[in-house]
Amino acid sequence: MPLPNHCTFHAKETRCALPPSFVLSLKNSDGEFMISAVCDDHLEEMKIIITSLQTKKSFPSGSLVIQPVKIVGTNCIKGTEEDYIEIELDRYKP
Ligand SMILES: [Zn+2]
Repeated sequence: MPLPNHCTFHAKETRCALPPSFVLSLKNSDGEFMISAVCDDHLEEMKIIITSLQTKKSFPSGSLVIQPVKIVGTNCIKGTEEDYIEIELDRYKP
């Protein structure tokens, strides 16, 4: 399952636009599967929501596995930005 580009937290009509910092997976007798990706701000809220859904039996039972999103992608984006800035600076050199 590919990682979403942004936090999957939804509040009413609002969709969080922040990049995800944590991947949430559910681990039970069927195996482990990814259920969500959230930003720092929504990790706690998402945990509460999932726990409450499990209590109401509207979500599969199992233990929640929280893993930080790999930093590889972020480094790549940062490198590109630095390259871009260098090119721009070259252009404006006297
Ligand atoms: Zn968020």
